[in-house]
Amino acid sequence: MATPSAPSSSLPPKPHQSSSASSPLSPPSSILIIGSGVFGLTTAYALSRRHDFVNTTITVVDRADPSNPDVFPAPDAASVDTSRIIRADYPDAAYAALAAEAQLQWRQQTHPDDLGSEGRYSESGLLVVADGPAPPPGTPVVPGTSVIDKSKLTGMDYARFSWANVLSLASSDPELAARIKECPNTDAIKAALGTGGSSGSWGYINGLSGWANAGASMAWLYKRVRAEDRINFVVGEVTNLEVSGNTVTGARLSDGRVLSADLVMVSAGAWTGRLVDLTGQAIATGQVLGYIDLTPEEEAQLAHMPVILNLSTGLFVIPPKNGVLKVARHAYGYLNPTTLSVPPLVSSVTTPAAAVSLPLTTLTNPTLQIPTEGADDLRRALHEMVPLPSLRDRPFSKTRICWYSDTPTADFIIDYHPEYKGLFVATGDSGHAFKFLPVIGEKIADVIAGQCPPEFVGKWNWRYPASDAAIKTVITEDGSRGGVPGLILSTELERTSAVLN
Ligand SMILES: Cc1cc2nc3c(=O)[nH]c(=O)nc-3n(C[C@H](O)[C@H](O)[C@H](O)COP(=O)(O)OP(=O)(O)OC[C@H]3O[C@@H](n4cnc5c(N)ncnc54)[C@H](O)[C@@H]3O)c2cc1C
Repeated sequence: MATPSAPSSSLPPKPHQSSSASSPLSPPSSILIIGSGVFGLTTAYALSRRHDFVNTTITVVDRADPSNPDVFPAPDAASVDTSRIIRADYPDAAYAALAAEAQLQWRQQTHPDDLGSEGRYSESGLLVVADGPAPPPGTPVVPGTSVIDKSKLTGMDYARFSWANVLSLASSDPELAARIKECPNTDAIKAALGTGGSSGSWGYINGLSGWANAGASMAWLYKRVRAEDRINFVVGEVTNLEVSGNTVTGARLSDGRVLSADLVMVSAGAWTGRLVDLTGQAIATGQVLGYIDLTPEEEAQLAHMPVILNLSTGLFVIPPKNGVLKVARHAYGYLNPTTLSVPPLVSSVTTPAAAVSLPLTTLTNPTLQIPTEGADDLRRALHEMVPLPSLRDRPFSKTRICWYSDTPTADFIIDYHPEYKGLFVATGDSGHAFKFLPVIGEKIADVIAGQCPPEFVGKWNWRYPASDAAIKTVITEDGSRGGVPGLILSTELERTSAVLN
């Protein structure tokens, strides 16, 4: 085996020390990527196209769907759904700029093979709103603000800073800038929404944002990766990482197989905490979604609505496509504490709790429904945002709990593990990573190669919990979340009666 391309030091760093590499590292001879969601698959693709990695064997393993072994990622991955919002509307200028870079590719629709073609991307516009006192008319915003304390933002702050950033990004082109318009009150929001509904007290509409068919986009990417014929795909469930001393040497699968590699990248989304202890850094939270079937007349009535996202409640609606309207909640989410039979890889700073929050999905629990608590909130969103009388009591045709890997600041974790050689982690998506599909793999590959983008140094690095309180739980306080922190899924399900009626 070649020398692992892990951190240079073999000693555990002091707690809170970043391990983000800043100088070039030599490519490993083999890399195993656990998880083929947007983080894992885009990284595999990026590495497979890099000259430096031409001699690196790349293997991707995913639980996938054993009955459908030619399809990656697994159908219950966060990266697979009918839709994901594609927006540069971020209060943090670094994410706003990266998303704007990604949007250039989402908008490519000339050839059927382009990412945005065949219905994969729709630039419907995004109406960003928030509750609370609206800013006085003419209140200036600070364009391009990059240094903000995300832990102190309200939904209104998030909306205002996002507005500043997207205006700044569009400022060089008056035509683009003209597609971003303030909606200073409920009447203006109602007019921009065009459904007869409204939400929030202040907002803006950004005609440069839209939404993507996430499942179709992942299928598009998977097809391209397959066409390269450069990556080995393995269907299997990793039960634990294989370790020798302080070096990770591979992964063991539930059927006993062991996949060895010089570098192991764990990009298992909300499942990552099962394999690597992320206590105080990231936690799996379940988010509710509901789908409602529409008649062709109803769909035509809503054909021109933008995506609407209320950053105070987290509730959002995606415009209809193929007769289906989607409503969801970007919230603190449900926790699903799960007792592990095999503990995750520990660190010297934290001890994993006996129970770790892990996803519960219909792939393993086919009768799983969303709790009434969440269903009621989705229903409230529909009544407020899309008040068609015919939809008022129409049951959801389908519901889903989809899982985030949430970090306290909503920053991703893309870094070498500071204590184990041969281990890299790409997770902590915090419910907003999908839009980066066209660009995130290259960025992750840069970090693997020791070149973290400067604007993300200090954001993407491994961060041990700053305090004992932080060790106990992770709550994402970036100003974008609705709902109530700390809800336990099993408790809410016990309270649930017949959600689908
Ligand atoms: C309801 C909802 C709405 C969202 N809305 C948006 C949005 O509007 N815009 C946006 O940009 N983003 C959005 N996101 C976030 C986005 O979908 C995620 O950030 C992104 O998909 C995360 O990708 P990932 O690769 O980290 O995880 P995933 O896509 O979950 O992939 C992880 C993969 O790891 C595999 N895996 C896990 N454990 C193992 C194991 N032990 N062995 C083998 N394989 C394993 C899984 O099977 C899975 O395929 C949303 C997410 C949700 C849930």
